Amino acid sequence: MKVEALLDYLRNERWPTIWCPGCGNGIVLKAFLQAVHELGLSKDKMAAVSGIGCSSRATGYIDFNTLHTLHGRAVAFATGVKLARPDFHVVVLGGDGDILAIGGNHFIHACRRNIDLTIIVFNNMIYGMTGGQVSPTTPVEKVASTAPFGNTEPPFDTVKMAIAAGATYVARATVYHYPLLVQYIKRALSHRGTAVVEAVTNCHTYYGRYNKIGDAPQMIEYFKKNSVTLERAKNMTAEELKDKIVIGEFHVEDKPTFHDRYEKLVETISRKE
Ligand code: SF4
Repeated sequence: MKVEALLDYLRNERWPTIWCPGCGNGIVLKAFLQAVHELGLSKDKMAAVSGIGCSSRATGYIDFNTLHTLHGRAVAFATGVKLARPDFHVVVLGGDGDILAIGGNHFIHACRRNIDLTIIVFNNMIYGMTGGQVSPTTPVEKVASTAPFGNTEPPFDTVKMAIAAGATYVARATVYHYPLLVQYIKRALSHRGTAVVEAVTNCHTYYGRYNKIGDAPQMIEYFKKNSVTLERAKNMTAEELKDKIVIGEFHVEDKPTFHDRYEKLVETISRKE
């Protein structure tokens, strides 16, 4: 889809973005806008919420109801918006550091509640905005500014964590797999309950440079070479899967949402009165 078709969703006066040329954040943002456009959703009935970080700047560039909030608190603010406006599509746009470290607690509890949010985790495996520090998704042995000899901490698997915590739609793609990313975001937006899409994206400025993967095109090529589909991964050993990015739709479940249970409670109480 040509970007011209999506101009109506952008605050064009806010451009250019602060993102480094070639940053994958632009690809993920375009995938999100394309998904909204193809679903025919009204931007006036949508709210996009972010915290702090490079990807969190996305809410400044899009012409929806937007909230650019505190570091790590995007999911908490989004929960409040959804409670106030259950008729809105509420989307969280944020990075791995913001959503899974500082905001990790909010993330798991949103999943537990199965509140109707779409959470798009821009996972570039590092803190970009603050200078390339280790994040909760930096793989072991990879280099960051706070791990110059290699990271010693095992990373979170966003997908497994979201499923374990109770999210009812969970998928992962990379910026190389753009059509898949659009498809998963469309399904997430159409899903009732907590929907998590992990978008593996390139921070070539820090992650790519520190780990000698290269510039933006080389990082995207890296994602292409190192991704395996969920179907293929099922027949691979743990050793074969080391350093691989497994992409696919991992979990789809129809379960009562937070609002379903809340409305049922209100109905029960009203009948007693
Ligand atoms: Fe993107 Fe990294 Fe630059 Fe931030 S520092 S804009 S994540 S490339």
